[in-house]
Amino acid sequence: MILLRKIRSVRVALTVWYAGILLAAFLVFGLAVYFYLHRVLHDALESRLTAEVEWIAEEISRIPAGIRLTPTLGDIPLETRQNIEDHLDLLPRNFSVKLTGMDGKDLFRRGSFPSGNLVTSTLLGGRPTIYTLESASEEVYSVASHKRERITVHIAFPEKRIRNVLRHTLVILFTLAPAALVIAVWGGWIVAGRVLRPIGRITRIASRFSAQTLNERIPERRVDDELGKLIKTLNLGASRLEASFEQMKLFSMNVAHELKTPLTVLRGEAELALGNPPDAEKSRELAETFLEETVRISLIVDDLLTLAKGDAGQAEVIHEPVELAGILEDLLDEAQILAQEKSLRVELQENPPITVSGDETRLRRLFRSLVSNAVRFTDNGGLIRICSRREGEEVRVSVEDTGIGIPADSVAKIFDRFYRVDQARSRERGGSGLGLSLAKWIAESHGGRIEVASEVGRGSRFEVILPVAGDSATGSSPGSS
Ligand code: ADP
Repeated sequence: MILLRKIRSVRVALTVWYAGILLAAFLVFGLAVYFYLHRVLHDALESRLTAEVEWIAEEISRIPAGIRLTPTLGDIPLETRQNIEDHLDLLPRNFSVKLTGMDGKDLFRRGSFPSGNLVTSTLLGGRPTIYTLESASEEVYSVASHKRERITVHIAFPEKRIRNVLRHTLVILFTLAPAALVIAVWGGWIVAGRVLRPIGRITRIASRFSAQTLNERIPERRVDDELGKLIKTLNLGASRLEASFEQMKLFSMNVAHELKTPLTVLRGEAELALGNPPDAEKSRELAETFLEETVRISLIVDDLLTLAKGDAGQAEVIHEPVELAGILEDLLDEAQILAQEKSLRVELQENPPITVSGDETRLRRLFRSLVSNAVRFTDNGGLIRICSRREGEEVRVSVEDTGIGIPADSVAKIFDRFYRVDQARSRERGGSGLGLSLAKWIAESHGGRIEVASEVGRGSRFEVILPVAGDSATGSSPGSS
């Protein structure tokens, strides 16, 4: 393991794991084969020994009763002896057989029956008994003994024969193991190399990713396997990175552009003033222009700062009970003053007492942006309708105008920073292009959202949906005014 960590190569790790697992599987398989063979060979031997002693016992039971009761050497009839010998000729030579009488003396013998302590006839029951016997020459035999009347049949088989077969099996298994290991390491190395080859390619391309090469993509695989998914994910990540990089570039350009205009005005005015020292009246006008432009710059900088803090998750979020009705009434007054110049009509509908939880200053800013847009983008004589109503656990505040409207393909973009449907017209009408981005962020940071519906030439409707604060959730009935 420590060595593996040092080598730090997936290919080596895969090969070692593969070879290790194969070796373990081989050993388990080898041991299973060994023990299974051991059991099968012993079972086969036992049933053969049992069958043989039973056959001979059966033959003995045919000897006339008189002889069977007092058998001595040579008493076994020739016919029986012949039958037994004929049968034993069919048995492999390793089986040795002997028949003993009551006194333990041999009545019949085939092969060199091992000398040792056979189970005495008194201990034998009606069924053959199987046991092991160690001969004087320390060789182990499997023996079956069976008593029929006063004659006992013993058959012995040397265990050495079975042990030899088992030993050979083990030798074969253990000679094959290293060969299998070599094949496993070699095969594992080749397979791991093949599987990992595309990863090398992915690494090479991914390591080239930089601000200049963000448009490069890793060639996708035809198979949608794990590597295919990895490549897709990396390419998707690169696409997102490219998009946000582009957005950042555009954003920096927009910021520079937005600040350039007021700064150019300030510089021009200052240069002019230096060239022709102004009189008192001119100085006042100059100071007014300076103030106007610096206010414009600081408003843009403030908004950018708030949005940047929001992006970084560092914006301070206040959660205080805020009465919406009061805010909207103040807003109505402000809007009426703004609308006077253009002879616009401004109405406030419903407006039940509803409390939301949040930051009053920011909420005022949010609604002011919508109303100021409605005033700016509605031509003389139009109507602006503000409406606040409750729907379940939500409050819906809509600002509707009969203004110029927004083209369908721009609706999704108006919340982007510095986006304006008509750059020149909007700037001329006093907008910075940040109002709706900020409004969207404020709504979302209060757990709400903004919905837009608009038609070019007919007007727009912006609706802010906010959750009602916990305490007033059951306070007022929906739609009451
Ligand atoms: P701006 O400072 O330019 O108003 P906003 O972010 O508030 O920036 O709005 C973005 C753009 O959305 C505006 O420039 C304008 O084109 C469009 N827009 C916003 N509100 C309205 C409205 N009530 N009617 C028509 N167009 C609107």
